Amino acid sequence: MAFICKLCQKTYSLRKQVLAHERTKHRNNKIIPHLHLLLQPSFEQLTTYQDAFIILIKKRLGFNRHSVGSKRLLINVFPENIFVHLFQSEPSFRYNSALRKYSCTFKGVEGESRLKQILNYEHWSYRQDPKTKTTGYVLLVNYEESYEVSFIWMQAELIENNRSFQCGTVTCAFITDSGEFTENKENEQLFKNHIATPEITNNNQLIYRHILPRSPLQQLILNQQNNK
Ligand SMILES: [Zn+2]
Repeated sequence: MAFICKLCQKTYSLRKQVLAHERTKHRNNKIIPHLHLLLQPSFEQLTTYQDAFIILIKKRLGFNRHSVGSKRLLINVFPENIFVHLFQSEPSFRYNSALRKYSCTFKGVEGESRLKQILNYEHWSYRQDPKTKTTGYVLLVNYEESYEVSFIWMQAELIENNRSFQCGTVTCAFITDSGEFTENKENEQLFKNHIATPEITNNNQLIYRHILPRSPLQQLILNQQNNK
C-alpha cells in the first residue's frame, strides 16, 4: 500500500514517512486539497457553533483560585466546513493533510479582538460576578507577556458494529485568570448583557433574557437579508 502526500503527490511506502515528509516540507501549509468538497455553511449553522464556543469558554471562567490556569474544552462532533469557514483566512491557520488536522491560534490583544469578530461577540472572553465584583477572563496579555488561545480540529474515527463513523473533534485551549473590577457605567451595561435577567412577559410567565445578545454586526447582516 502506498501513502501519497496529497499536497505534492509524492509517494511513500510507510505512513510514518509521509507524516515526516509533510512535517518538514509542508510545515506551514494552508492549502486544503479537498476544499471544493466542503459546503458553505448556513448562517444558522455558523451561529450555532459560534455560540457553542462562547458558552463553553465562559463555562471555564470562574471567580476563585481554582478557576485560574490552563483550560481546555472539547466539542466532540464539529463539522469540518464550519471550522474551515471560521478560521481559514487567519494568518496562523494550518492544515496537515496526512493527519487530517487543522490548527489556528490567537495571541495577545490582537488575537482577542480578532476572536470578537470570528465569534461575532464582543464579550466572549470574560464573565463578571456583580456580587463579589470579580471577573473571570481568558488571559491573553498581562504585564509579563502575551498568551494564546488555540483551536485544533482533528478527524476521529469511531467503529461500531463494523461500521465506521468519521467525525471532527475540536479542542480549544487557553489560560484563565480572575481579578476584581471597579464598577462603572460600562460594567453596568456589561452586566445587563451578560446575566440572564428574568423578564415578565404579557402572559405573566417568567422568561430569561438570551445569554448571548446578538451583536450589532449580526443584526446588520440579518437586516440586510430581510431587506432583500
Ligand atoms: Zn508533499
